[in-house]
Amino acid sequence: MWVCPYCGGNKGQPFHDAQLSGVLCLSPDCGRFDARLDDERETAAWEDSDM
Ligand SMILES: [Zn+2]
Repeated sequence: MWVCPYCGGNKGQPFHDAQLSGVLCLSPDCGRFDARLDDERETAAWEDSDM
């Protein structure tokens, strides 16, 4: 089961598109996106987008 790394909740909506793969947290107090890369390439891109 997926567990949110930010709030610890387990209600998540899996999301995938051409560049993004992960789970969107459905907790109203959180709403963060937990990005996952199955083949661990190009992880640096995620760090840059976090203000
Ligand atoms: Zn969360």
